[in-house]
Order: sequence, then structure tokens, then C-alpha cells
Amino acid sequence: MSEKIVGGFFGVRSRTGPAGCPVRWARTTEVMGRTPTPVTTPESLTFRSDVTVELVKSSASDADVLFAARVSTAGEQSLDELKKDPERSKGLINYLMRDRHGSPFEHNSMTFFISAPIFVFREFMRHRVGWSYNEESGRYRELQPVFYVPDTARKLVQQGRPGKYVFVEGTPEQHATVSGTLEESYRQAYASYQKLLDEGVAREVARAVLPVGLFSSMYATCNARSLMHFLGLRTQHELAKVPSFPQREIEMVGEKMEAEWAKLMPLTYAAYNANGRVAP
Ligand SMILES: Cc1cc2nc3c(=O)[nH]c(=O)nc-3n(C[C@H](O)[C@H](O)[C@H](O)COP(=O)(O)OP(=O)(O)OC[C@H]3O[C@@H](n4cnc5c(N)ncnc54)[C@H](O)[C@@H]3O)c2cc1C
Repeated sequence: MSEKIVGGFFGVRSRTGPAGCPVRWARTTEVMGRTPTPVTTPESLTFRSDVTVELVKSSASDADVLFAARVSTAGEQSLDELKKDPERSKGLINYLMRDRHGSPFEHNSMTFFISAPIFVFREFMRHRVGWSYNEESGRYRELQPVFYVPDTARKLVQQGRPGKYVFVEGTPEQHATVSGTLEESYRQAYASYQKLLDEGVAREVARAVLPVGLFSSMYATCNARSLMHFLGLRTQHELAKVPSFPQREIEMVGEKMEAEWAKLMPLTYAAYNANGRVAP
């Protein structure tokens, strides 16, 4: 592991591991029921099938919902009411969720560090309300050769028409073709990027040759209300009253965020599920 200055908006010092891969990228977590290992090729490209979601900072609890809601009737006494009668608290959170009184769910904050392919971030950043984002820069730092290749659990074949289709398993041959084609294309693209940089071309111009399967990283901060809206659209769940059909890779991010949030706000999480996973 080495430490070097990689530049950036704020001149950040970044620790890098083998293949120039930031340390965070090397810490992959379980996805689709297995623990994937990033594959580093002899040419120093890294191929990943997983995404990373780390809760780096939070101020979020069910109590935050309760004191905000109870100001309606208890004024400044609402903080004193917090520990009284847990059943009533549970009932209040459920009532707020059911009747879509959403604002009490905004008095909390969760910051996630996310590493995922650029195509996931394009979808992610469509969520405008109740979200703050900061993403690594392709202008200020040399982008690292970490690319997305789906694993064999990823359904590959779309059947049906737009708006009404399902995904089914790919054959072993299709998986081999996808992996081979993506990896070859990534190698070519990254070699072109390096060639342009070697010739003195600015990073912001050279990056145009890189594909959306390149990994990026960002901090995303949200509150429980904006996260619930996100999860309603970006995950599939048997309890969802309004089904959505998200791309699997953003759903992988959503599932990991959901797991962190569920631990912080168990009553709110239970009420969300009990009321059909519709954001209040
Ligand atoms: C399965 C799926 C497929 C998709 N396919 C496409 C696609 O093909 N092309 C494409 O461009 N996008 C696509 N999207 C993105 C989608 O259109 C939304 O941009 C994205 O889901 C964010 O939702 P949102 O606007 O509700 O969220 P936010 O931006 O977080 O907004 C939250 C809520 O605030 C309110 N709001 C926000 N802004 C406004 C506004 N300007 N005016 C009025 N009310 C507002 C709305 O009630 C909104 O629901 C897709 C999304 C999903 C989940």
C-alpha cells in the first residue's frame, strides 16, 4: 500500500492500494450471497461485480421522528415525551407513515460512501429532493482502472416489451461473451486514456474515451424520507404496494443502504414495510 497525492478539488491526499486502487475499493462486501474478490488482471485493470456502500456518518433514530411529530401537541415538551410509552411511539410512527405525514421523517441524516459504476450514478443523481452528492472528479484526478463486469448471478436476458418485461438467466456462453467483450473493451478504453494522458492531454478531455462501466465514488447524504422514496423506486420487494422495476446494479446499492438504515431506525423501517413501502 502506498500513499500519494492524487490531486482533487480540495487537494486531497489519498491512500492507494495495489493497482492504484483506493483502499475503500479493496474492501468489498458481500453481494448476491457471496463475497466477491476484485480481480486484478496482469495489465493492472480491476474488474468488479459488486458495489460498496459504507455508512460513514449518521444522526438518525426513531426518536427524531417522534420529537418532531409531537411538537404539534406538546410544543417544547416533545423531547421529554420520548421515552414514555414505547407502544404509543410505535403507533405514532405507523400513523404518520400510513397517513403520509412525511415531514417528521426529515429530521435525521445519513451519509454513505458509495463505489459503483458510473451508469449507476447517472440513475442515482436523478433523485434530487432531500439528497446531497459529492463525486470524485475526472478533471482533478486520474481515474483508476476499476470496471464493472456482472457475475453469473446477474440475469442477462430481457424478455417482453418495454414497460412489461422480465429478466431471465443468461447461458454460460452468454456470460462468457459478456465478460470477455466488456473486459476487452475496458482494456482498449483505458489504454487510450493512458495514451492521451501520456501525450499531455488534460484529464478532463482524455476521460471522454472511458465507458460508463468505470467505477466512480461519491458521498451521498439523505434523510429517512428521501431514502424511502429512493428505495420505493430503486428496489423490488414483495411488500411494495407499487412495484418498481429498477436496474439490478442500483438495486444492489439500495439494498445495502436499506440494511444500514433499518438498524438505525427500526420502528420507522417496520412502519415503511407495513405500509407498502410508499414514502410518506
Ligand atoms: C424503473 C425506473 C425507470 C426509469 N427510467 C427513466 C428513463 O427511461 N428516462 C429518464 O429520464 N428517467 C428515468 N427514470 C428516472 C425517473 O424519471 C426519476 O427521475 C427518478 O426516479 C427520480 O424520481 P423523483 O423525481 O420522484 O425523485 P426526486 O427528484 O428526489 O423528487 C422527489 C419528489 O419531489 C417532487 N418533485 C421533485 N422535483 C419536482 C419538480 N420539478 N416538479 C414537481 N415535483 C417535483 C416529486 O413529487 C418527486 O416524486 C427511471 C426511474 C425508475 C425508478
